[in-house]
Amino acid sequence: MQTMGRLSGKMAALVSMIFNSARKQADHKKLARHILALNQKQSPADIIHEVALCLKNILDYRLFAFAMKKEGGVDVWLDPRMYKKSLEDVILKDFGMGNKDGLNYLNHRFYEDEPGLSFDMKGLLYYEIHEENLSFRLYIMAEKQFFLYHDEIVNLILQGASVALSRQIKMENLRDAAVIDPLTGCYNRREFENQLNRTISGAIRHKTKLSLFMFDLDHFKTINDTYGHLAGDKVLKEISALVQQNMRTGDILARYGGEEFIAILPETDKIKAMELADRLRIQISRKEILHGNDRIKITASFGVSEMDRHADMGRIIQDADTMLYKAKLNGRNTVMPGIIKILPEKSPDLLKENMN
Ligand code: GH3
Ligand code: MG
Ligand code: MG
Repeated sequence: MQTMGRLSGKMAALVSMIFNSARKQADHKKLARHILALNQKQSPADIIHEVALCLKNILDYRLFAFAMKKEGGVDVWLDPRMYKKSLEDVILKDFGMGNKDGLNYLNHRFYEDEPGLSFDMKGLLYYEIHEENLSFRLYIMAEKQFFLYHDEIVNLILQGASVALSRQIKMENLRDAAVIDPLTGCYNRREFENQLNRTISGAIRHKTKLSLFMFDLDHFKTINDTYGHLAGDKVLKEISALVQQNMRTGDILARYGGEEFIAILPETDKIKAMELADRLRIQISRKEILHGNDRIKITASFGVSEMDRHADMGRIIQDADTMLYKAKLNGRNTVMPGIIKILPEKSPDLLKENMN
């Protein structure tokens, strides 16, 4: 009987080990999904909401609050069901704040007579992150006994959240400095000119090529007229994101005007720039933008230019603009100058002529 008991005890331990490792694997898969989702969130509130979902989903914990230090105050996210007053006091104390004027609520407004849940503060745990541009605390209420494994999971989520938040803050700072176009997240025209000046100086110094392309969405007015202005905005966002994703990290994309964009391609000659522009043109023409029940299709016309030996900033923009105009005249959904597929050894003069 004793042996049997010992055996079944071992078996139980083994089963529990297998079960635990299977559970760990499943948890890590869930964790990976949440961390990927974090990086697609557009605001700190959305990021924290995802962290709350993740904690609930994997550990069955409730995220009670999140507090992030900002210039001149603290951004706070609170579990909507909790009793605000109790945690507000904790946050004020933890962040060394005299009064709650500096608290900025990210997720919702509380009304003074809102009931909220009261709870036992003894179960409250907190985690803290300090990074170069970021400092926050996460307050959670562990529902069960707290294990080392849980600690590992929470730390991983926090690392993911901190990367996503840090990127958001950098973007916000850029926006505040008025260099980013708020709708598309691309650089604005003024910043484009600063960047072009800088890139031209670099190209002269290192004796490298530099090209530009400019593109304008075709018949965009009809998109607004047919599907509405919000749909038009969505098209601008999705097309600029598509272009951005398909360029190299050193390339610079800016919104030049309404539905017109411009890109700086360092270390790129005109032929390579035309090839890239043509690939992008095809990708844009294949993209479907979903808006309500509508599937919106659009095309774009491209003009390409290369820096000449005078390295004149006005000239390189002007050339791209002239080429874009030609692309429109040529029936749109095209790149100018076009890619000429004539073998140079057969007809070098013709090739040269067409390239100019
Ligand atoms: P083309 O092929 O010749 O470029 O024709 P088009 O209709 O694209 O050009 P047009 O210049 O006639 O119209 C551009 C339209 O873009 C008009 C303007 O209302 C719209 N637009 C500009 N900025 C925005 C924006 O931020 N959001 C939306 N939804 N529309 C915008
Ligand atoms: Mg247009
Ligand atoms: Mg236009």
